[in-house]
Amino acid sequence: MNSAFDNALKQLKRAAGIMKLEPDVSRLLEVPDKIIQVKVPVQMDDGSLKIFQGYRVEHNNWAGPYKGGLRYFPAVDLREVKALAFWMTIKCSVVGIPMGGGKGGITVDPKKLSKKELERLTRSFTRALGNNIGAYTDVPAPDVYTDARVMSWIVDEYSKIKGARVGKNEKLAVVTGKPLNKGGSQGRDRATAMGGFFVLEKVLKRLKKNPKQTTVAIQGFGNAGAVMADLCFKNGLKVKAVSDSRGGIFSGDGLDITKLEKHKIKTGQVRNFSGAKNITNKELLELKVDILIPAALESQLTSKNAKKIKADCVLELANGPTTPEADRIFFRKKILVVPDVLANAGGVAVSYFEWEQNLSAKYLKEKQVFDKLKKLMEEAFTKVWNMGRRRETDLRTAAFMVSLEKLRQAWRKTLGKK
Ligand code: NAD
Repeated sequence: MNSAFDNALKQLKRAAGIMKLEPDVSRLLEVPDKIIQVKVPVQMDDGSLKIFQGYRVEHNNWAGPYKGGLRYFPAVDLREVKALAFWMTIKCSVVGIPMGGGKGGITVDPKKLSKKELERLTRSFTRALGNNIGAYTDVPAPDVYTDARVMSWIVDEYSKIKGARVGKNEKLAVVTGKPLNKGGSQGRDRATAMGGFFVLEKVLKRLKKNPKQTTVAIQGFGNAGAVMADLCFKNGLKVKAVSDSRGGIFSGDGLDITKLEKHKIKTGQVRNFSGAKNITNKELLELKVDILIPAALESQLTSKNAKKIKADCVLELANGPTTPEADRIFFRKKILVVPDVLANAGGVAVSYFEWEQNLSAKYLKEKQVFDKLKKLMEEAFTKVWNMGRRRETDLRTAAFMVSLEKLRQAWRKTLGKK
């Protein structure tokens, strides 16, 4: 199977070909600016020493500092991080924020670590990254199996390293997705799903679907997926199925997401939820629903299962869940794919708002954050939709074209050209 990075390059080449992008811009985007590979030694609770592999890929900073999450997951490897960093460059540019693309991670199963070990791992990683991160250079954020608590350990360790050489506001702005009492932004914890929901509302209007009669299946019940499920449920859409790493559940009448959240906290999984049937992740993806929302990992929709997908629309909250082969099948089957670089950009958009708030020390209320986010997501959606119509292409290629046009301009500026 192709790696996520191979898929990312195919996406780039397709859009670049249609819009006749200067080959130099394409070539510069095919290779990340910098690849950082670090050893992350951790003292385990039993006194032994374990060494983990950590990565940070700084893909492109024509528009602003590198920006992107940190992932703690057993399958993290360099090719995956490179792909995720590349998509961040495209994403920031689709929604028009002055940030570049970066991503990082550690090859680790965080579920096997105690809280203390997780903290030591994070502090060790921060020390290993050293001067590579900083408010004006590279600004990490949460991703799969990292959260606000992990971000606050990074700020703390970074502050110790920098001491009086870096001001307080700048120290806070070294990462985003922090807890509210440690410089976090209102709304950041719900931002990815909220941004996706604003896009979904626009999609439903274009498809002339009534939200109250719209059915949804969501793969992944973490920061992105569970909040999306909650938003859909509270806005009257019927969430028929959800899943997490242990498997999924289905209810023809729709799931009560508020009760399900309590069940997940209590049992650590969504399975065995009262009134619902246990299903596999494979079954979830192939359900007949209006909207399928992958919100877990990449390469979930491939040439193997794309023909079996019965949803009318795939809204990608996860990064890279659809391979280029599956994309082509969906386009032929007239299944609308709303790409990750647009659908999940709410997270990085509010991360950018958080960074701005830290540096200016002026903090916004939640309503102000979501009003700003709504405007930004709706404008980005309209640009991508119109580009798709004009060029008679799928929305992913359209989003890439919107983004690459801005990147081309940013690149020309770096050369002093108009
Ligand atoms: P998370 O760690 O909070 O949740 C991940 C979820 O996926 C968990 O419920 C986990 O059980 C589930 N999962 C793991 N393996 C699975 C499998 N094989 N099948 C089904 N479910 C599985 O992570 P998150 O922040 O929600 O991120 C999910 C996706 O959204 C990732 O692709 C991430 O890059 C993307 N994303 C997240 C954000 C953000 O702000 N959190 C922003 C943009 C994109």
